[in-house]
Amino acid sequence: MTENALSNAMQRWLEDVSADLQARRRDHHWRTLPAVASRCEPEITVGGKVYLQFCTNNYLGLAADPRVVDAARAALDRWGFGSGASRLVAGNTALHAKLESDLARLKRQPAAIIFSSGYAANLAALKTFAAPGDVIFSDKLNHASLLDGAAASGVEHHTFPHRDCSRLKSRLIAAREKAARRNRPASGRRWLVTDTVFSMDGDVCDLSSLIHLAREFAALLVIDEAHATGVLGPEGAGVAAMQNAQSDIALSVGTLSKALGSVGGFISGPQAAIDALVNRGRNLIYTTALPAVCIAAAQAALDISLAEPWRRERLNAVAAHVRSELRQAGYNCGQSDTPIIPIILGSSERAIAASQALAQMGIWVPAIRPPTVKPNTARLRISLMATHTDEQIGRLIAAVKKLRPIIDATI
Ligand code: PMP
Repeated sequence: MTENALSNAMQRWLEDVSADLQARRRDHHWRTLPAVASRCEPEITVGGKVYLQFCTNNYLGLAADPRVVDAARAALDRWGFGSGASRLVAGNTALHAKLESDLARLKRQPAAIIFSSGYAANLAALKTFAAPGDVIFSDKLNHASLLDGAAASGVEHHTFPHRDCSRLKSRLIAAREKAARRNRPASGRRWLVTDTVFSMDGDVCDLSSLIHLAREFAALLVIDEAHATGVLGPEGAGVAAMQNAQSDIALSVGTLSKALGSVGGFISGPQAAIDALVNRGRNLIYTTALPAVCIAAAQAALDISLAEPWRRERLNAVAAHVRSELRQAGYNCGQSDTPIIPIILGSSERAIAASQALAQMGIWVPAIRPPTVKPNTARLRISLMATHTDEQIGRLIAAVKKLRPIIDATI
């Protein structure tokens, strides 16, 4: 009887799972994992075919740079692979400390702490500090890890329309009035949370308006500079540094896995906040430390990023050129102002057809569909690298221009 009940429960569960998967197939939202058989360079091999790719976050072209690979190899020889334990136990090395101090210097912040991913860093930023009575306000298009962090913190959470600081202000006023009506103690904090570069739109947050609101409402700003680190601002320090606004930021999150070509994430901010993350950050305490090999690779990439500003300059110049060519050709690239350039097409079918047509021309640009983006805003997401050659950029632009009839023919 008990055995039967269990097998019925299993069967019902798997039926539900299959029904959901079927709906995803029907709605053109089915996802599969491509097997890449080459290094993360402008040309990649997938399914035995070589493609010119515009789909990674390896913005500075450092993920497979020989110097990064050599640094990783040396660390592998010196330290072995696995770190064996959490950072608080035995997984921490001098390499971690050195990279943290260099990241803090890059971000013009007093201190920094590394996590095993940017995702974990975002969870930690919100879960560690948002406390009962606090209210979090997030841009609706924030990265999933920030939204998940806000949800996991368990505190009241409101989203505001994308980059819309006047609607954010209305929500802040409403929350203040609600707290006053409830006679809630004034100690509850308000957190304003935003990506600085939005990952699917490539647009930049309105940081000065957010700072203005943070000052007006005594709110704390948490920013995610995952796509800005290494890419924007002086030395690639990000958007806050570009606006000389570091002292207005409570916590700044970054990742080692995009422009810095490795894996891992970090938070920079005041020393007390970083000490608190070491003492209370569950995403740091209860997980194994990033191996030294990953840290050594990120350190080498950071050193190269600082020593070779031409990478950032070229990346941003090429991005401006591609955006202007595509906009002139009539494509909707949204408000992109960075090396992430969407071509917003509407239906998922249309985005898939466009992506497949590009693949037939030897170009790999993924179709991004709901739920990653809002319904009817499925798109191609082009991301550029400093190491794409002029000829490769020319091929991309020519190929995208040829898509027009395919796009028009697909609803
Ligand atoms: N924040 C943003 C804005 C991102 O796009 C991503 C990754 N796509 C992350 C955080 C997570 O970083 P990681 O890949 O290092 O976990």
